[in-house]
Amino acid sequence: MRLASLLVADTPVLAARRGDEYVDIGAVDPSLGTDVGALIASGPDWRLRAARAATEAQPVIGDITFRPLVPRPPKVLCLGLNDVDHAAEAGLPVPDFPVVFSRVASSLIGHNQPIVRPVESDMLDYEVELAVVIGRGGRRIDAADALDHVAGYTVFNDGSIRDYQVRTHQWMLGKNFHGTGALGPELVTPEELPPGASGLKMTTIIGEERLQNGNTGAFVFDVASAVALLSTVLMLEPGDVIAMGTPSGIGFARDPKRFMVPGEICRVAIEGVGELVNPIVDDPARAATETEPKLQTGGV
Ligand code: ZN
Repeated sequence: MRLASLLVADTPVLAARRGDEYVDIGAVDPSLGTDVGALIASGPDWRLRAARAATEAQPVIGDITFRPLVPRPPKVLCLGLNDVDHAAEAGLPVPDFPVVFSRVASSLIGHNQPIVRPVESDMLDYEVELAVVIGRGGRRIDAADALDHVAGYTVFNDGSIRDYQVRTHQWMLGKNFHGTGALGPELVTPEELPPGASGLKMTTIIGEERLQNGNTGAFVFDVASAVALLSTVLMLEPGDVIAMGTPSGIGFARDPKRFMVPGEICRVAIEGVGELVNPIVDDPARAATETEPKLQTGGV
């Protein structure tokens, strides 16, 4: 099953994919809610109810806007340096315990929505990642049972502002600029993928350039280990998102460095999970600040 959180004529719609179209399952059964996060939190039998509704739901008609797949996750937990080649390009050792930081829900955007280059930095970078959405919560989950706690998988672009990321030991600020974290387009339930979504190709493409070429089989800590380790500390809740970390090829580690600029379109994809596409735009406030010095110069 493939599910999406849409806006149609400004109204939230919980949709399931049926063939080439989306159908409105929330309209058939209001207990499902109006987005994927609400669905997962609506009770342990959500998958059964959603599948049942999908058989009789009507196609979504009108202009579709994709919301962040889980619009307001209780937590967004991100693993860093979880790929041997990526740790090497960052000049850092492969960690023997996962690097973890968190993102705030308000930094997230949906498929086709713009990634915003802020006023404060040009160092806007891409990161293709597998995102795990938690279905059943819990504490101290055993790695052997961890995959039973997964609602499904999606694609994440962990848009990063590199100078802010390395300003302090904590990466958090560079990972939380507004409008930089793209999540979606669809939740793919686990039965459609290999166990733990392992062995899937991950790519980042901008224009003609293939910038990242990784595999979900190369994680240092796999999905089951990540769920187990994080739940040692935190109470995992339905709708929590765990981003599994990016492979090598980031713009910051290239020579010369390669950052995203307005007008480009960033495509991050994971085999069998989906392709997440986002245009790059400047923060509108940036145009205002950039005209000021020009006006001063012109006045001389
Ligand atoms: Zn990342």
